[in-house]
Amino acid sequence: MPTLWASTHLDAARVSTKMTSMDLPVDLTVLADDSLYLWAPRGAAGSWGLANCLLVTSGTAAALIDTPYDERMTRALIAAADRVLPAGAGVRTVVNTHANGDHCFGNGFFPGAEIISTDASLERHRCGEISPQEMQYLVHASDPDEPLGWYARDRFGAYDYTGITVVPPTLTFSGSHDFLVGDTEVRLIEVGPAHTSGDLIAHLPQHGVVAAGDVIFSGDHPAHWEGPLAEVVRACETVLALDPQWIVPGHGELIGQDGVRAYIGYLRDLEGEIADRHGKGLDAYEAADEILAAGFHPHLGAPERVVMLTFIEYHHLGGTGNALGMAELAGHAARWAHARAQVPSGA
Ligand SMILES: [Zn+2]
Repeated sequence: MPTLWASTHLDAARVSTKMTSMDLPVDLTVLADDSLYLWAPRGAAGSWGLANCLLVTSGTAAALIDTPYDERMTRALIAAADRVLPAGAGVRTVVNTHANGDHCFGNGFFPGAEIISTDASLERHRCGEISPQEMQYLVHASDPDEPLGWYARDRFGAYDYTGITVVPPTLTFSGSHDFLVGDTEVRLIEVGPAHTSGDLIAHLPQHGVVAAGDVIFSGDHPAHWEGPLAEVVRACETVLALDPQWIVPGHGELIGQDGVRAYIGYLRDLEGEIADRHGKGLDAYEAADEILAAGFHPHLGAPERVVMLTFIEYHHLGGTGNALGMAELAGHAARWAHARAQVPSGA
């Protein structure tokens, strides 16, 4: 059984990682020699789109858990993987933890690969996700003076969606699905609806690792699109029940079980803060603004995501109506961030 590197080893690997001018990692981070690697793009606090991708290899078999957000990123990952994979090996299996573009827009650069995800994620591909063409419009052609147009340019302007064709999963399941990468067991467990309607986590029992997708964020406020927060907590408890040594969040640094427990504490705190203000009759925007003004986890990046989370929670507390669309939720976050950007510092 391969031994996972200790955290100090991981830190050293991260520090020594060379970055391109686009801040993309040139090399994979070794999590276990010859068998488990992380492609971990990093940016400023509160960045969007920089998702972790996990490469699992055994002999000449290789699987990738999540693909990057645009062509440049995906080609950088493939180049890094080519340097560690043995001759004749290639990624024949791709897992998408959910249908958000930053976890699956790279699918089309692995032609012929089996692409595995949940039935519910396939449904989200058909309706509910923002397409690459819509992202390209938002970032380059929408009104830059409107909050969402400003926000899209400011937070997504580094990405190029022109080379992306959405390739949906070719093998879908509900509940659980196990498969082998050479001798390495991969157990997929459906945990949605939580972050989205179709989330899964990937358990590698021989490595003691769980790839949690965006059920878990590390280092920033999380973005969630489905909720309610109680369902995200339930998904996190499923991760803990697997007793992993390391958890790969969808975004941010690897964490241990204590990190998952702290994240559950964050989610429960926020759930309580929102319910309290819902009970007092504040609207969702007012509630979020008040929670943030009171200093809710101020060390985390992307505070505007709390606005999204509050609208989702209010939607579930109200118990009626259609699910909130991604553009609508992003619009609420953008409105808050845009208003803050207009306020002179010190005000
Ligand atoms: Zn993500």
